[in-house]
Amino acid sequence: MSRTFISLLLAACLLGMSLPARPYTNQYTSNSNLIRWSSNTITIAFSTSLSSPGANIKPGTDVVGTVRRALLRWSEAANIQFVETSSAQQDVGQDGVNLITIADTPTNRNVFANGGENQARTRVFFDPNTGLISEADIVINPAVGGRSSYGFSTDGTDDTFDLEATFTHEIGHLLGLNHSGVIGATMQPRQGRNFNMSGINAPALTMRTLEDDDLAGIRALYGQRTPQTVGTLNGHVNYGAGAHVWAENAASGHVFGSAITKSDGSYEIQQLPPGQYRVGCEFLDEPVVAAEIAPNSGPFAGIGAQPAFMTVEGQTTVNPGAVTTLNLTVNTGSAPTLHPAVFGVNGLLIASPTQIAAGETARLYVGGFGVDAVTATGFSFNTPFITIDRNSYQVENNAAFGVTYPIVSFNITVADTGKFGDYSLRMQRPDTGEISYLVGGLALDPYVQYVELNPIDRNDFFVTQQYLDFLFRQPDQAGFNAWLNVLNNCSDVHNDPTCDRILVSSSFFGSPEFQLKGYFVYRFYKLAFNRLPTYAEVIPDMISVTGQTQQEVFQKRAAFANNFVQRPAFVSLYGALSNTDFVNTLMARYSLTQITTPDPQNPDGTQKVTLTNADLINGLNAGTLTRAQVVRAIADSDQVFQLEFNQAFVYMQYVGYLRRDPEPAGYQGWLNYLNTHPTDSRTMVRGFVDSAEYRSRFGQP
Ligand SMILES: [Zn+2]
Repeated sequence: MSRTFISLLLAACLLGMSLPARPYTNQYTSNSNLIRWSSNTITIAFSTSLSSPGANIKPGTDVVGTVRRALLRWSEAANIQFVETSSAQQDVGQDGVNLITIADTPTNRNVFANGGENQARTRVFFDPNTGLISEADIVINPAVGGRSSYGFSTDGTDDTFDLEATFTHEIGHLLGLNHSGVIGATMQPRQGRNFNMSGINAPALTMRTLEDDDLAGIRALYGQRTPQTVGTLNGHVNYGAGAHVWAENAASGHVFGSAITKSDGSYEIQQLPPGQYRVGCEFLDEPVVAAEIAPNSGPFAGIGAQPAFMTVEGQTTVNPGAVTTLNLTVNTGSAPTLHPAVFGVNGLLIASPTQIAAGETARLYVGGFGVDAVTATGFSFNTPFITIDRNSYQVENNAAFGVTYPIVSFNITVADTGKFGDYSLRMQRPDTGEISYLVGGLALDPYVQYVELNPIDRNDFFVTQQYLDFLFRQPDQAGFNAWLNVLNNCSDVHNDPTCDRILVSSSFFGSPEFQLKGYFVYRFYKLAFNRLPTYAEVIPDMISVTGQTQQEVFQKRAAFANNFVQRPAFVSLYGALSNTDFVNTLMARYSLTQITTPDPQNPDGTQKVTLTNADLINGLNAGTLTRAQVVRAIADSDQVFQLEFNQAFVYMQYVGYLRRDPEPAGYQGWLNYLNTHPTDSRTMVRGFVDSAEYRSRFGQP
């Protein structure tokens, strides 16, 4: 396999010279006032240049639409509204207009005259006494190019910056945010270029979507858009400005927020969902350095000039509506020896976030001085969603990559239930115990094309998800259009029983196709083993009976039945039984003496027959029925279908919506509800569709 090395993409976007401080890091005036807009409604003037992009932007790019999407990402995330106006103005300047421009003019080029590869620049003008912003402008660098001559695109074109990611980042500055030390955050200082060469397609789009660290930052400034319970973590580090403190959920490994210590050693992370947290504190060298976070002034005086220290870890609980204090002690007397600086999958080494996908297996490369002192067992992810194949660990030939620092690599697998978010790679030397992290460097970010904070709020996404979760296939166009039409014409998609999401979703459980697949598989487990299938069992089984045509599904159902009775668990239970005991045991499961069921000789047909225990036993003895046919005949009978319906309905809520096994108490609770309110399945379905657990599969709950 060809390995491609990408040198450090030092694409730090420099900040307006008129702005002395850049703060999820807030910005402060020199007298420590927060920099922010006084109003939550901000008027933005779209320069007419957005409609006539220059040579730096890929022809055909919808720049106006891109800016609107970038603005929407922030206004969906916090209590902010943008009012769009138009302006013939091309040049940035302090003139009372909040301008977004891409014009290639001498004035705009001059903004970038200080060198470096800066994609864009945001200039924020504020009152130095109060910190209140009076004006902010964004300009895209007209001089940025690439292998394709232009430097920006929105379609992942090789060697371009994603223009939407650039705008989203710059709008964060316009709102008052500074850079973040979380590598996967949109406000991280370095934007990677899209890469698509040598058979490796690695679009760098994840900075489009706001990560939890960005959300914590913007909500701390402007408040939440939809109420969510949060708490605050603060404390003190025995250090000056620039120690990076971050908080990741102890159970999921999800990085939720971060802060940089001020000159007095204090830090604060607001807007954290309640829970147990692992808190780390690191010295910022590569891939984000402290000097990129905030300028050396005001409350951050001394940032970037402090001595290095080894990473330390702590643990604490964040409670709803409360402030938790966690003080951390670092040792500046012993400099770190671990300096992970670049990383990536499939041969790429970059200093910006690496996007991974649920269900994916990839080879992860980590480069930087000292990383080869960490052995295979020293690397770990603090999340159940990513596992390392330690046998695959190897130290790479770094000369082949053209670098002087060591590189190690190993295979990682992302669980198919992995949730969106940023995850950290942890490494620890076996000899000294020294720890280091790539904080939030791996981004599980499947929804970069959706501008909504949670794409499940889109009707088209919702309908598609019903097909995927309950029928295990992509929607067919006619069915998709029909259901989308129902929702699009519904007076209230959340509460109109004739057309809302609950009706649509329930219809998938009730559909003949689901009955042929999921409910079919489910009944085999209940009948044979007198228990629910586990999530790990039922998903592959349901997929195994999914086909393109009805004929294919029929063949697969027959194969499933034949396979099921050969499984070791089935054989160990029934293999030694006589035909009589076999039939009687299965029929006794539901106290049945006869069944009405599809003709076992044509089990997918509409013809039904009535069979007694004796009929089934005689069929087995005469060789006209197989045990697989008997199990299927009983499982497919009208009697078992009716008796299991409510149980399966509840069970499939867990499997389809939550992608996991039910917890016994919750399962029993919903089953009791359904049994005592037989006409009100809506309450149960609503409980799942509106749950934070379901919604958090796709984005912000
Ligand atoms: Zn920036």
